[in-house]
Amino acid sequence: MDGLNTAPHAAAHTAQPGGGAQVDGRRSRVRAVISAARYHGVELDAKDFRGEITEVTPSPASLVRWLGEQGLVARAIRLKWRYLVRMHDSPPVALMFKDGTAGLLVGADPTRNLVWLRDPMGSDGDVPVAVDELRLSQVWTGDVVMVARSRTQSETEAPINLPWLTRMVMREKKSLRDIAIASVVLSLVSIFPALIVMQVINNVVNHHSMSTLVSISMIIVVLAVYETLISFGRREIVLVLSTRLDSRIALVIFARLLSLPLEYFERQQAGNVIGRVSAIYKVRDFITGKLMTTFLDMFTLLVILPFLFVLSATLAWMTLAAAGLIGLIVVIFVGPVSRMIGRVITAEMKRAAILYESVAGIRTLKTLALEPSRRVEWDVATADVVRAKLDAGRLANWPSTLASPIEMFISRGVILVGAYLLLTGSSSLGAGGLVAFMMLGGRVAAPLVGLAKLLEEFTEIRAALGEAGSVLNQPTETRALTNGMRPKILGALSFQDVMFTYPAASSKALDDVCFDVPAGTMLGIVGRSGSGKSTLTRLLQGVSRNYTGFLKLDGVDLREINLTHLRKSFGVVLQDNFLFRGTIRDNITANRPGLTLEDAVRAARLAGAEEFIERMPAGYETWIEEGSTNISGGQRQRLAIARAVITDPKLMILDEATSALDPESEALVNANLKRISKGRTMVIVSHRLSSLVDCDQILVMERGRVEDIAPHHVLLERCAIYRQLWLQQTRHMNPQNAHAGPAPLLAEGD
Ligand code: ATP
Ligand code: MG
Repeated sequence: MDGLNTAPHAAAHTAQPGGGAQVDGRRSRVRAVISAARYHGVELDAKDFRGEITEVTPSPASLVRWLGEQGLVARAIRLKWRYLVRMHDSPPVALMFKDGTAGLLVGADPTRNLVWLRDPMGSDGDVPVAVDELRLSQVWTGDVVMVARSRTQSETEAPINLPWLTRMVMREKKSLRDIAIASVVLSLVSIFPALIVMQVINNVVNHHSMSTLVSISMIIVVLAVYETLISFGRREIVLVLSTRLDSRIALVIFARLLSLPLEYFERQQAGNVIGRVSAIYKVRDFITGKLMTTFLDMFTLLVILPFLFVLSATLAWMTLAAAGLIGLIVVIFVGPVSRMIGRVITAEMKRAAILYESVAGIRTLKTLALEPSRRVEWDVATADVVRAKLDAGRLANWPSTLASPIEMFISRGVILVGAYLLLTGSSSLGAGGLVAFMMLGGRVAAPLVGLAKLLEEFTEIRAALGEAGSVLNQPTETRALTNGMRPKILGALSFQDVMFTYPAASSKALDDVCFDVPAGTMLGIVGRSGSGKSTLTRLLQGVSRNYTGFLKLDGVDLREINLTHLRKSFGVVLQDNFLFRGTIRDNITANRPGLTLEDAVRAARLAGAEEFIERMPAGYETWIEEGSTNISGGQRQRLAIARAVITDPKLMILDEATSALDPESEALVNANLKRISKGRTMVIVSHRLSSLVDCDQILVMERGRVEDIAPHHVLLERCAIYRQLWLQQTRHMNPQNAHAGPAPLLAEGD
């Protein structure tokens, strides 16, 4: 026991001030919370923390904030020993030590009055040490950081459907309760005017009593004030509730959309995706509008209905029966009407897709003068929408038409029946009572009819929710993005019998791909169009993950690696790179936390972008317009390269990054690539073989298979396809020139 006890003590002492203790403390605290998060299956990266918090000794509060940003729920609290020692079956907890370091509580034993601690800087396999109250009190500040998995984490997994929405709404218990109370009070208050009218007619008018009239008027004024206030309150609560729901839904659906794999977006039209996801707002409107109102009206019903029965049971039954009849009519029409509405939604979505595609592809559309045919397409789609709307409207007109005589009966017919009953003396209801009944009867019919109409809309809403769900309930990458290993990536690649077929494609895009390259290799990939070069790089980035065979990065199976970690460790430059609206500096740092202007300048220099950025009017603060219209293609590529190298990735993938460039820009970029390649693995896909001659290895692809892999001069001798490609490209020039071309520009790029 003694032997165990000395260990944390010693550790705590060695970490006390002196030497790099503060840096140690910082790392130790961050490592402690990372270990605690790992218990919940969430892998965090200490490097992210470096970027975001600059304190030397991270305070519990900043640790909690950071954890919160990483999607966890964390709490910093001050604990007494007697609570700590009872945490025997809780997840690991980080204890803050006085010297700025931290310990990880991994167990407790209340009967022996001991807790078990692990040094966060040690390895996971270390045996925890037992510490008693006295020992701990010497080093522990009393602060602990507890970590739990975020609720939204599981929410990002839950399918988006009606139960999900219901849970969303039900979470606002407090608002719902307040709204219910306000509604009941409102209903009660609203009974009184009817009662008062009854009194006025029965007593004041019949008995000519002025004093009663005065007191009744006073009551009416007071009630009016109350009613105004309460309905104001109710509207306010409904407003708050619906905005809160709104923001909740917006957050969840956007997070969900971003966690869908890239492959999904590639298969779908963007307009279609946007249209479907937006359908959720229809659902939102329904919930906070119609559903809420009807729900509230139900309270009115509950309060008023008994009162109607007190006034006159016969009339109350008649009102109910009439309202029920309306309900029946609506229910009968629910099916056909919602089918019609489904047609409207489909037609509208089709039209929206045309609109979106036209705007997104306007350049092509204009240059090919396709406006007329597009207009025809739009006209046809519009006609479809109009027809569907007309049909749906006509059909929906029927239940309203059929219901209107019944509604008239409720509001006017009932009074006639009442008067008849009054005259024949079969009812004790006075003239005042009759008027009161009329005033309240309308309030009962409306919610009942509303309820039936709700049913009608409900089917429409279910369809809309289904649309949204068809996008948002696709399998997400969330698990792969948050789980898995985070090994240090050096860049050794190994493909073993990798086969891959695109979904819905008939032939294999990659067929038995086998090759190995050590870390630090500059690997060129060539091959005819469609031979699988881009597919190969996509597998590397974890875009497509359902391949067979083994793809290893530094000996670790790619599928075991945390996807976020993997993508963060890569730098990728494609043929057409998207720059976001913002300054050049924003685009190079891509708003990644912790990157400064110095980093941006360093990256720009490496990418050969420095000289043109400095010639720009506002330098690094130059604003890039939407669609990067104010910079040239070559400049954009160099910015994209800077954006990729800024994080110092160990593996860079360039897929025809230079093929859209003019020879001069291309030579400049290629020259810079050689500098960039130092200390990292580069995978360069290019159609221009001349830019690959300096690669350590060149992989020749042909119909998804590896034809050969070797340096340029070897391939030239032994690989027929390579030789053919090479000769095609150099037929009209002197090979030496092609080779020497970039040399003078290299100097310019530096
Ligand atoms: P290029 O030089 O023209 O860029 P590539 O060598 O990069 O060609 P890949 O894009 O890897 O070729 O395509 C390999 C094969 O996979 C092709 O036959 C192509 O038709 C098919 N393919 C590529 N992308 C998809 C996709 N998203 N869905 C279905 N098939 C695809
Ligand atoms: Mg390609």
